[in-house]
Amino acid sequence: MIGHFAAERTAFVVIQQGLIPEFQASLLTWYRSAKRDLPWRRSRDPYAIWVSEIMLQQTRVAAAIPYYKRFLARFPDFAALAAAPESDLLSHWAGLGYYYRARNLQKAARLMVETGDFPRSYAAIRSLPGVGEYTAAAVASIGFNLPHAVLDGNVFRVISRVMNDATDISSLTGKRRFAEIAGRLLNPHHPGEHNQAIMELGATVCLPRSPQCLACPVNSLCAARVAGSQANLPVKRKTVRTLEAHRTVYWIEQQGQVLLWQRKAGSRLMPGFWELPETEQIGQAEAIAKLGSFRHGITFHDYRFDVIHAAAPAGIGPCRWVGLSELAKLPLSTVARKAYSIVVKAGVFHAAAAAR
Ligand code: SF4
Repeated sequence: MIGHFAAERTAFVVIQQGLIPEFQASLLTWYRSAKRDLPWRRSRDPYAIWVSEIMLQQTRVAAAIPYYKRFLARFPDFAALAAAPESDLLSHWAGLGYYYRARNLQKAARLMVETGDFPRSYAAIRSLPGVGEYTAAAVASIGFNLPHAVLDGNVFRVISRVMNDATDISSLTGKRRFAEIAGRLLNPHHPGEHNQAIMELGATVCLPRSPQCLACPVNSLCAARVAGSQANLPVKRKTVRTLEAHRTVYWIEQQGQVLLWQRKAGSRLMPGFWELPETEQIGQAEAIAKLGSFRHGITFHDYRFDVIHAAAPAGIGPCRWVGLSELAKLPLSTVARKAYSIVVKAGVFHAAAAAR
């Protein structure tokens, strides 16, 4: 049980007894010797840090590394990113998903070209498209050494445990409370390193299921460890389950071409991306074979997609015939990519290509 007494005691020990400097020093010393060698940690360039933070918003560290390197090699500064053709931008983001992130990066880069520099204050960074409180604090502190504390899932976990605080982290009260504590714990002399250190602690030591308390640099200051309540923290309200719906995408080939349609530039979801047709575009198509299925989440819905090899329809609606050799160059949506890999696995594409 997470007792009221424990929470009071920790607040007393860490915050009111002058132990914050000890917490900061232990964390920083540990970070400097134990941190993982990640490509964005080799740079203090705010542009590179900003790109890495946007990539890491919905992508795991290990998965992001090769994309980050390729992206920085192709777009080494905001001027190069601002000048990039959209297809080039999207092809360097393909596979990371959530393409609005890439579009926002470019929009922001174009604003920087207008002003002539990367923004240097928290408020100016926060006002960039696609930048929320967390990203602004990360870029401001790591890139400019400004005293803004980050608050992400790792930080929530570490703070809730160090403080033995069972406030719901998904509630507004919880967010305000933990933001206030994170600000008080922030090392004012090394805010960028401190932020990275507390996130690193959450990512590598204070793990969700099996915290490594014996190896933890702040274990002598951690109230959850004393109370034995680590496994119960942080407290987070359960999210509502999404409903599963069923959809069908068609793979339709004819004379070395495949039928695709392109989302409009103003589309809310994945503008400019190419999709395989569904009944909405071409009506019910004549099925030749079912090639497979996959699941995919779009906004708050979970879908099961069937991939059907079908005969060419009488009318193609908004679709276009696109040469199979052009496929690799087009920005395909994630749904189209998943369907395409099923088509390739099923041998339809190769068989059709080999026949020509
Ligand atoms: S002592 Fe354990 S629970 Fe506390 S911060 Fe360290 S790893 Fe997390």
